[in-house]
Amino acid sequence: MEVSVHDSPAELLDGELATTNVRIVDVDAVVVGAELRNWVFVKITTSEPGLVGWGEATLEWKTQAVVGALRDLAPLLRGRDPTRIEHLWQSQYRHPFFKGGAVTMSAISGIDQALWDIKGKLLGVPVWQLLGGAVRDRVRMYDHLGAGDASVVYGAATGEGFAAAARRSVADGFDAVKILAVPVGGPLPTTTQLDDARAVMGAVRDAVGDAVEIMVDFHGRTTPRGALMYADALADLRPWFIEEPCQPEDVSGMVEVARRSPAPVATGERLIVRAEFRDLLAARAAAVIQPDVCHVGGISGLTKIASLAETWQVPIAPHNPLGPVATWANLHLDFATPNFLVQEIMRADVPWRADVVSAVPEIADGHVALPTAPGLGVEVVEEAAREHPYRHEPQLGTVLADGSVADW
Ligand SMILES: [Mg+2]
Repeated sequence: MEVSVHDSPAELLDGELATTNVRIVDVDAVVVGAELRNWVFVKITTSEPGLVGWGEATLEWKTQAVVGALRDLAPLLRGRDPTRIEHLWQSQYRHPFFKGGAVTMSAISGIDQALWDIKGKLLGVPVWQLLGGAVRDRVRMYDHLGAGDASVVYGAATGEGFAAAARRSVADGFDAVKILAVPVGGPLPTTTQLDDARAVMGAVRDAVGDAVEIMVDFHGRTTPRGALMYADALADLRPWFIEEPCQPEDVSGMVEVARRSPAPVATGERLIVRAEFRDLLAARAAAVIQPDVCHVGGISGLTKIASLAETWQVPIAPHNPLGPVATWANLHLDFATPNFLVQEIMRADVPWRADVVSAVPEIADGHVALPTAPGLGVEVVEEAAREHPYRHEPQLGTVLADGSVADW
């Protein structure tokens, strides 16, 4: 075994194993300020004229750290063969010694998506084709309704706001929506808070009827026992699933909720490495997992987590309230993943969402058809992106009545 210290990773790590003549020239971030979050798009340029890959590494309130992580990882990529995606993933994950963490894994995720984009473009096929081919004809989408009303901060939404937003979703063809019905609160919900949550979800159920699935995101605002109080209060309104009912790293707490909640539990948007999902699945703590393609190591990371979940008969519903490149990365995965349930999309963040990319998926009857363009099928329009520069994400200062800090 040889351990070398080298200034030129391309020469060291690819050597004669380079499988194409194409080489990575550089890795850059294009940051777009999009109100609640900054979208971090990753651009990989190559030695092949015009061959550029795009990915997304958005991580709210950590934007500058992710851009820094991309700079840290770039020397491991420059000069290397972009088609050796898994080899590059392993190198980025293992060579820096300290593994995991949301910041580094988000950077790896954006790079990984861009590498799949490059490979698809190079071979002239969509990414789903590289992932084993399509296992379904269309992908079911659900509409994340944000706060239900663009004028209010998360957590302050009203039943009327959510009901109006849900009606718009149904009019646009969706048959599944997600709301944040549980208010920011203390460790145990008060009777009034339980009634408020019920009123919010009840308004949405009245607005859309029983043919539309309603998912309720608890946003980790509650303790396990508090979550069960909400789950019981909402039970007859029939949530399709309840999401992040307690702190996501507390597997035994999640199990407590999962065993006793009338509604299935979904979680995973804040889990990062595969072992976290393994532990969650082995404990049977979730009926649905929600890995994020921008945090779990990109398309390479998410496909492995999905496959792991399949062995526990648990479907994936990929988390996706981030930017428009991530949506495409998810769609290619969804088409190629047998244990896929439903795909989240956020439409309620900024009205110019479609302006900064070359394409957004067309949603008809709440579904997206199989993409046909090579790679991910999306380019960032850099000139339009420059019109929305980075700005620090707004501080959401959620505090309780006694001045103590609460999860938002
Ligand atoms: Mg969530």
